[in-house]
Amino acid sequence: MLVCPDCGAATLEIVEKIELGADERSDEHDLQLLKCSSCGMNAIGEYEESRRGPLDEDRFHHTGFRIDAKAMQTLRRAVSEEPKETLYQVFQSHMNWSMRFAIEYRRN
Ligand SMILES: [Zn+2]
Repeated sequence: MLVCPDCGAATLEIVEKIELGADERSDEHDLQLLKCSSCGMNAIGEYEESRRGPLDEDRFHHTGFRIDAKAMQTLRRAVSEEPKETLYQVFQSHMNWSMRFAIEYRRN
């Protein structure tokens, strides 16, 4: 379960997931829209995984960016209407560095 950085509950849920596939940097690159079912916080999640390191050393980064409800609405619409190729740019325009947080996992 993903931990919400605002209320601390492990109730951050993935409401949308877009798989961008492999690129020069990663073997897996996903964009996510996240919502906390406890406090309602909205965020973008960016997940990157590289399996090019030493064996059994999967490396990944999972970063969150808080967004407001309006941006959440805009991005959910974009996911259903825009082609995958342009989605990353649309998401990036809402990834505010000062709203960034590290996504933590917790077993319930
Ligand atoms: Zn929360």
